[in-house]
Amino acid sequence: MLKPAAMSTPQPVRGTQSLLGEDADRLAAVVSAFERVRRLYGFKRVEVPTIEHTAVFARTIGETTDVVSKEMYSLEDRGGESITLRPEFTAGICRAYLSEGWQQYAPLKVATHGSAFRYERPQKGRFREFHQLDAEIIGAAEPQADVEILAFADQLLKELGVDPLLQLNTLGDAETRGAWREALLEHFRGHSSALSDDSRDRLERNPLRILDSKAHQDWPVIDSAPAIDEYLTGEAADFFGQVTEGLDAAGVAWERAPRLVRGLDYYRHTAFEFVTDKLGAQGTVLAGGRYDGLIESLGGPHTPAVGWAAGIERLAMMIDAPEPERPDIVIVPLGEQAEKEARKILTGLRREGVAADMAYRGNIKKRMSKANAAGARFALILGDEELASGEAQLKELGTGEQRKVSLDLIGQAIGR
Ligand code: ATP
Ligand code: MG
Repeated sequence: MLKPAAMSTPQPVRGTQSLLGEDADRLAAVVSAFERVRRLYGFKRVEVPTIEHTAVFARTIGETTDVVSKEMYSLEDRGGESITLRPEFTAGICRAYLSEGWQQYAPLKVATHGSAFRYERPQKGRFREFHQLDAEIIGAAEPQADVEILAFADQLLKELGVDPLLQLNTLGDAETRGAWREALLEHFRGHSSALSDDSRDRLERNPLRILDSKAHQDWPVIDSAPAIDEYLTGEAADFFGQVTEGLDAAGVAWERAPRLVRGLDYYRHTAFEFVTDKLGAQGTVLAGGRYDGLIESLGGPHTPAVGWAAGIERLAMMIDAPEPERPDIVIVPLGEQAEKEARKILTGLRREGVAADMAYRGNIKKRMSKANAAGARFALILGDEELASGEAQLKELGTGEQRKVSLDLIGQAIGR
């Protein structure tokens, strides 16, 4: 008989993660803090699809950005439509704002979280499927909206015990941006031979994007580039002034970053990043800004809005390890009859709201060590004698203290 060829087991898709135990708990801890703080700031939960028509992202994020030109997971579906896995949330939320009639709720404060997909070179803190927290205020032109959403971000990061620096800039209004763009163009043209190939490529199409370059080679030229301040219109400067005043009043520390731009094209006025030095090159944990032009690029009415997104994996790497989940009690049955009875007790305890498990493999020593390894507060030892008497040995694993409890009153005995 022919032996079947050794079958190779499937490997994960590059840049994806499968997590167990503490690693998974870390992501959950970030999300639960987000959910708690979201409520405090009055942001409603929303859900949007993982897939959108490719145009939703191409039109809003900008054709010349890395995300659209290189990183999108786009595919033609069986109906011949071009579909893209979301690389971020903002565009999909704005699409829903228009197509689902959410305009009637403006100004709308919403938040969501979930996976996002970008075809990038995987490295520490950079994945192809990753997770984001996202918050948006849509239909609000006031600088107070920028302050509110930044205060939310700041409190969340503080509650997570991550204390990164808020770097803040303004990209001004259309007039400001136009004038600054011209000045940058002139500056970068004059130094084009010193720029990376990528940046030379961007030079004529989108010189602002050079400021966001990750190529070290570009940094000296970026450092000497003109800052936006000289080009700010009175109105843009006033808007920014109100944002910074609001932040000071709210006790949110910030630092001016006059050359900060965001990787996506849709930003106006306020742009920001919370940056840490603890994650090497992947130091931006939360980023966003005002995107007053985005909804118009989807064919909607002029709608001012501001938002941010944060990388859950990057935050998860920085928080203290969350307390592992522990059962309140592990039942250690000895013998067939006891195992049967233990199943009944388990069901009863779980229905009472007690986290309960059972150790049913190996000798008593093995079973007790399973209870210990699970970090249970109590072990209940159940043998023939106990079954007959209706009372079992309850052992407090922390202290080793042991006492008899009635089989009907276990929940009470452990303080439930
Ligand atoms: P970067 O400069 O690190 O590429 P970005 O400007 O592309 O970030 P945004 O589009 O602003 O990132 O996304 C918001 C946040 O999502 C980032 O600050 C980061 O924390 C996280 N993030 C972005 N891309 C990835 C990725 N590929 N893997 C993990 N987290 C990511
Ligand atoms: Mg990126």
